[in-house]
Amino acid sequence: MNYVSTRDKSVKVTAAEAIARGISAEGGLFVPDTFPALTEKDFETLGKLDYIGRAKYVLSFFLNDFTEDEVDYCVKGAYTGSFDNEQPAPISVVGGNANILELWHGPTCAFKDLALQLLPYLLTTSAKKTAAGKKTVILVATSGDTGKAALEGFKDVPDTEIMVFYPSDGVSPMQKLQMDSQKGENVHVCAIRGNFDDAQTGVKRIFTDNAVKEKLAEHNMQFSSANSINWGRLAPQIVYYVSAYCDLISRGEDLRDGFNVVVPTGNFGNILAAYYAKKMGVPIKKLICASNANNVLTDFINTGVYDRNRKFYTTISPSMDILISSNLERMLFELSDCDDKAVAKMQSDLSANGVFKVTDEIKAKMSELFYGGCCDDEETLATIGDMFKEYGYLCDTHTAVAVGVYKKYKAETGDERPAVIASTASPYKFANSVLTAVTDKKTDSEFGNVRLLSEVTSTEIPAPIKALENAEVRFNEVCDKDKMLDAVYTALKLNKANKGPLA
Ligand SMILES: *Cc1c(COP(=O)(O)O)cnc(C)c1O
Repeated sequence: MNYVSTRDKSVKVTAAEAIARGISAEGGLFVPDTFPALTEKDFETLGKLDYIGRAKYVLSFFLNDFTEDEVDYCVKGAYTGSFDNEQPAPISVVGGNANILELWHGPTCAFKDLALQLLPYLLTTSAKKTAAGKKTVILVATSGDTGKAALEGFKDVPDTEIMVFYPSDGVSPMQKLQMDSQKGENVHVCAIRGNFDDAQTGVKRIFTDNAVKEKLAEHNMQFSSANSINWGRLAPQIVYYVSAYCDLISRGEDLRDGFNVVVPTGNFGNILAAYYAKKMGVPIKKLICASNANNVLTDFINTGVYDRNRKFYTTISPSMDILISSNLERMLFELSDCDDKAVAKMQSDLSANGVFKVTDEIKAKMSELFYGGCCDDEETLATIGDMFKEYGYLCDTHTAVAVGVYKKYKAETGDERPAVIASTASPYKFANSVLTAVTDKKTDSEFGNVRLLSEVTSTEIPAPIKALENAEVRFNEVCDKDKMLDAVYTALKLNKANKGPLA
C-alpha cells in the first residue's frame, strides 16, 4: 500500500511521509492506493480482541512502513489510561434500533480524542523516519473540539510545537476556556476574527506557501497538520466503526441485512472513516450524513451541486459550523474512480467560485451510499428533550443533530435495520444549550449551569470539565484572519524584527 495525492496520483509516498507532511505539496490530500479487505476470519479474530488489539490489527494495514513494535508503542501509548471508560468507544443502547457509539470518553470530552491521542505518536514516529532531527510544527484550524484535543495530545511532546487557531466568536464558552487554559511549554493558541472556514483556509495557505516552508527549513522545522486533512487523523477513526461492528455481533444483533451509520458531520472526516470501514467489509448499508443549519452537504447529496455561497450560521452545534468540508475531497476521489484531474478541477472551482458540480454518475453513486439530512437549532433542542424524556439519555447538541436526522430518515424510508449513531461530544461541553432543552431553570454562570445540568439529569460531570472551573487562562490573543502567518512566526520566534499583530 502506498499513499497518493487526490490531486496528482503521480505523487506516491509511504504512510510515514503522508502523516509527517499532513497535506501534499500541490494541495491534495493523501489517500491509500489500495484498501485491505477484511474477511469473516479477520472479524472473528477482531471480535476477541479489546480496543487496543483491534486498533493494532486495523492500523497495521495502513501503517505500511511502521514496524510491529512501533504500531504497538503508538496504540498502547494512545489508549492506555487516557479514557474514563475501560473501552474508549462504548455503545449505549437507547431502545428501538439505535445504538449510540459514545466517542467522548477521552481527556477533552469529544470524539477527536480517539484520533488525537494517537496522532502525536504516529507523527513523531513518522518524523523520525522521514525527517530525522527536524522539529515538527503542527498548525491547527478548529471549530472548537479539534483544537483542544490536539493541544492535549501534543502538549510537551518533544520536538513538536503546536499552534491552534479558532474563530473568536464561533466556539462554545467551554471550548474556548478549554483551549485558552491549555498547559504545556510547546503550545500556542490564537483566536481569529473570522469563522472556521477562514481559519482552515488560512492554515492551508500557510502550509502550501513555499517561501514559508523554506523559512522553516532554515530553522530546521517543518509543518504538519493535526486536522483531518492528515491521514493520521482518519485511520484511527476507521477503528471504532470496525470495533462497533464487532460489539454489535457479540451482543447477538441480527446483522445479516447490515446496519446503518449516522454521523453528525462538519468536515466530513468522521463519516468518511465510516465509508472506509464499509469499503473494507464492515456491512454498513446507508451512511446517514447529518448537518445543522449549515446544510451544504445535505444539498450536495441531494442535488450534486456543492455551493458554499450561502449564509453562514453560528449554531448550538459549533463543531459542525462549516461550509467547506475538506474531507469531501477524498470522497470525490473515490466516487470518480481516482480521477485526480477531475478532483483538482472541482477543488479549483470551489476555491475560485465557491461552487462545483459532479457528474450524473458521481451523483448516482453518492445517493446510493449516502442519505443527507439536516436539523436546525430548534429541532436539535427538541431532540435532546425528547431523548431525555423517552430514554433518560442525555446527548449533546451535535449528537442530537444526528438523532434528529435519523428520525427523519426512518420516517421517510421505513428502514428499521439497526443503526449506530456516532455520539461526538459530552453534553457537558455544551451545557448551556443542553440545559435549555431539559429544563426552564438556569443560573447566571457557565459552571453554575454545569452543576445544574448534573442535578436536573442525575448525570455525572466529566472530570476534565470539572477541572476547568479553576483553570488559569494563559492565552487571550485575537488576530485578523490575514495576520495568521505573523502569529505563527511570532509564536515560533522566527521574526524578531517584526513583532507581528500580537504585539
Ligand atoms: C468535529 C466534530 C464534528 C464533525 O466531525 P467531522 O469529522 O468534521 O465531520 C461533530 N461533532 C463534534 C462534537 C465534533 O467535535
